[in-house]
Amino acid sequence: MKLLLRFPPDLHETPHTADVILETGARINIDRANVDAVQGEAVIEVPKEKEVQVAALFEQKGVEVRRLWRLIERDEERCVHCGACVSVCPTGVFAFDQSWQVSVEEQKCIRCSVCVKACPLGALACVE
Ligand code: SF4
Ligand code: SF4
Repeated sequence: MKLLLRFPPDLHETPHTADVILETGARINIDRANVDAVQGEAVIEVPKEKEVQVAALFEQKGVEVRRLWRLIERDEERCVHCGACVSVCPTGVFAFDQSWQVSVEEQKCIRCSVCVKACPLGALACVE
């Protein structure tokens, strides 16, 4: 399960992610992080069996947690399978299949939004 974490401004001095890993023993994979001295946002992947415990602990520490059931959405009526998203996605979510249609492997998405900006037809959106 992927979680979106939003760190409020007053929490930047404490290593909350490290603390959660140590306290839960969860092998957390940080997919993407944009954290500076003022605030931050991160997408993490948590083993299913630790998801509830990890989310609760982050929340206890004042971090906003959102479960990402969906990651990226494609409007099938708009998509013309041009492949622009195939070339820009850093994690290989998109690929041409044997019939030159662009397939989507959503679980690889880290919600960086690069493909959303690159799609000439406006067919892609990060799911909120
Ligand atoms: S860039 Fe947009 S139109 Fe082109 S294949 Fe990807 S989703 Fe479809
Ligand atoms: S938001 Fe788009 S470009 Fe970024 S990882 Fe997800 S599918 Fe790839």
